[in-house]
Amino acid sequence: MSADVILPGATLGVLGGGQLGRMFVQSAQAMGYFTAVLDADPTSPAGLVSHHHIRTGYEDPQGLAELARLSAAVTTEFENVPAAALNLLAAQRPVSPAGSSVAIAQDRAQEKAHFVRCGVPCAPYAVIETPAQLAAVHASLLPGILKTARMGYDGKGQVRVKNAAELATAWEQLGRVACVLEKMLPLAHECSVIVARGRDGSMVNLPVQRNLHREGILSVTEVYEGNLPQAQVEQALAAARSVADGLDYVGVLCVEFFVLQDGMLVVNEIAPRPHNSGHYSQNACDVSQFELQVRCMTGLPLTQPRQHSPSIMLNLLGDLWFKDGEQAKAPAWDQVLALPGCHLHLYGKHDAKRGRKMGHLNVTGPSPEAVRSTALQAAAILG
Ligand code: ADP
Ligand code: MG
Repeated sequence: MSADVILPGATLGVLGGGQLGRMFVQSAQAMGYFTAVLDADPTSPAGLVSHHHIRTGYEDPQGLAELARLSAAVTTEFENVPAAALNLLAAQRPVSPAGSSVAIAQDRAQEKAHFVRCGVPCAPYAVIETPAQLAAVHASLLPGILKTARMGYDGKGQVRVKNAAELATAWEQLGRVACVLEKMLPLAHECSVIVARGRDGSMVNLPVQRNLHREGILSVTEVYEGNLPQAQVEQALAAARSVADGLDYVGVLCVEFFVLQDGMLVVNEIAPRPHNSGHYSQNACDVSQFELQVRCMTGLPLTQPRQHSPSIMLNLLGDLWFKDGEQAKAPAWDQVLALPGCHLHLYGKHDAKRGRKMGHLNVTGPSPEAVRSTALQAAAILG
């Protein structure tokens, strides 16, 4: 065994206390690691279940020093951590993914430049940082979507624009911050793939996921034989591997794609961490995306995950806690869990808000038809 493998019994640190951090912590603990979470929120989903919870911001030098002191290795669950924080930690402990990879994933302009470098097709785009760049936008990019280069998620920080006048107004509305204008593409559907790349460059992947978004937020992920044409699966895998190799990436990486109406695959964006579209792996695969994150950061071997059940994941948004505009009781979990193969994951968030990710339901079953039927029944109960 390599000398620098971090074995169970050690403490693993994570920047960010959201649901992704929580599920990482739960996987690490299942394998016998202790965990430390850095997040200022005293009720953060991951902080609530971690052995250590450092309640400071990502830029607090004392908080970061404490995280480094406690942890044998550090990862992140959130791409918007300042690269400086990751670099500071990296001076003391192995950090994966590296600050340099996270810096690219947190800036759409750099991310797109990386896709171009790797020869992976993405939507035609222009970077808009100055009035001159705004004025120079080529008409072929319209209608398009103006996206802030940084800090966007779940469709936030995006404005759809039909013409140059709307584009100018949208840029004002977004506060004239650095943006990327993307051509609006005719989507047939969306898909994504999770790869995990080790320190030695070895790489494994989860099966390619087919995703349905509603109002810019992931709603349903379907993963089973035949969810996508084989050619698209192969293209997505090859593209994801090039993107990860090009970053010399260490960790779990999600690569999201658009499949256009003519069948062409274009890369949309990357997330330097486990991803909502990979949650089905908790119940449908023999190794989940969170276990892969643990294995990557500790230098444990990566084995190719095997999906043992067809699966559909339904996201559970805060909207389910509201009926007819009024805040209602929690959904009827007892009825949902009476269906075969339903696995409930809730993140321990107290206030349900519209659009807030409260949990997800993984449905597994013997066949795609069985899973689809159960998922439809579950969705009907949830209303
Ligand atoms: P976020 O970081 O919020 O996930 P995305 O860039 O993935 O932002 O955009 C959110 C959703 O908006 C996508 O999943 C897709 O449904 C739609 N979308 C984004 N860009 C385009 C585009 N260029 N053409 C068509 N639809 C798009
Ligand atoms: Mg997205």
